[in-house]
Amino acid sequence: MSGLAERDLKHIWHPCSQMKDYEELPPIAIKEGRGVYLYGYDGKEYIDIVSSWWCNLLGHCHPVINAAVKEQLDRLEHVIFANFTHEPAVRLCEELAGIVPRGLSKFNFSDNGSASVECALKMSFQYQHQCGHPERTRFLCLTDGYHGETIGALSVGTMDLYAKIYRPMLMDTVRVEAPDCYRCKYGLERDSCGCECFAAAEETFARHARECCAMIVEPLLQGSAGMRIYPPLYLKKLRALCDGYGVLLIADEIATGFGRTGKMFAFDHAGVSPDIMCVSKGLTGGYLPMAITVATDEIYDAFYADYGEGRAFMHSHTYSGNPLGCAAALAVQKVLREDKILEKAAAVADILNAALRERLGGHPNVGEIRRIGLVNAVELVRDRRTKEPFPASERTGYKIYKRALDFGLLLRPLGDVIYFNPPLTIDPEAAERAVKLCGEAVSHILKG
Ligand SMILES: *Cc1c(COP(=O)(O)O)cnc(C)c1O
Repeated sequence: MSGLAERDLKHIWHPCSQMKDYEELPPIAIKEGRGVYLYGYDGKEYIDIVSSWWCNLLGHCHPVINAAVKEQLDRLEHVIFANFTHEPAVRLCEELAGIVPRGLSKFNFSDNGSASVECALKMSFQYQHQCGHPERTRFLCLTDGYHGETIGALSVGTMDLYAKIYRPMLMDTVRVEAPDCYRCKYGLERDSCGCECFAAAEETFARHARECCAMIVEPLLQGSAGMRIYPPLYLKKLRALCDGYGVLLIADEIATGFGRTGKMFAFDHAGVSPDIMCVSKGLTGGYLPMAITVATDEIYDAFYADYGEGRAFMHSHTYSGNPLGCAAALAVQKVLREDKILEKAAAVADILNAALRERLGGHPNVGEIRRIGLVNAVELVRDRRTKEPFPASERTGYKIYKRALDFGLLLRPLGDVIYFNPPLTIDPEAAERAVKLCGEAVSHILKG
């Protein structure tokens, strides 16, 4: 299959890319995948250490998921989900009901992460309206957050390079300064602090919470911000603050769900529950586009009335509850449970982190190596002492990404933060090999 890259570029506009960059680095055509490995048509092997944008939860072409999707395919590919149902959807929700944070019980399907966020925003807006609070029309969010690319999701995300231009199209949201533990304003240590930075949330709530219907957060891990990690205590405090002001709390667990942080959901670390939770990415193991917005009975009940009262949630997506997606998601749950994936991943996570510290911990351009679950991030800085970043124009992370690809490692960075977010099934050998290749790529670009 020669010439795929050239044929691709004649027609395809790739996501999140300056297409001119492809003159120098054309698209890499992948023929097949197995476990943590991807294979190009030329036979070249790549370690997919970013889980193909964080969605590949259990490795590529997992035999159990493959079999489940194939079986479902010969039964039913899709059916309208208004007034109709099917066994895979019912069984999936029964199973998920047993693992989601306490109180979450009603499952509203969509087909991608951004869509599940839009659903959560509309749901909380309408909930407040129907509970006698039509004045609550705004949303609270953290600075530097990421919740997807559609207009509502962009509105509650960071106002960075990628969102700024759309500002006139976006909702006017209320932003709480996010915790930034690496550059802590109070000079405290993550995990031993008392979340002094939470004062910013308290002040913002005091001024604006009464106009707001909900607050949305990426719990514990602000992924797109550069895998920023903050302590569970922050979520605990946020839960109490939201309760005090009658603001709903939306957990965007799209990146953190299904074991990524070492527990099934990031909120589990805090021992509190959100009112609404969005899941996608790992839900189908990265097989099929599916997402769910999960809500409490209390929210669901506020919509439940005679038709004529007009309280229904008139929100829909054509592919809601797609049976193939449900079959994949059911298989994911089976593997997570039967293969004790979270337990095994915890052991590999320690090995990966130790290897990374040994290899890169002393590098003069490594500001911090931080971790949660199997997620490990290396923040590269010009000056380790002052934490001064590299100028963005140098594209340091991008250069390392390109070099790592030569070495057979898919290490797509977030600015100058390079990170590992591998399938939970990665074995210690592959993890250590990825660290070695990453170390070589870093040394090639940054001589120290
Ligand atoms: C990926 C992601 C989204 C968006 O999901 P899409 O399926 O890409 O629309 C939203 N929130 C978080 C935290 C994500 O990581």
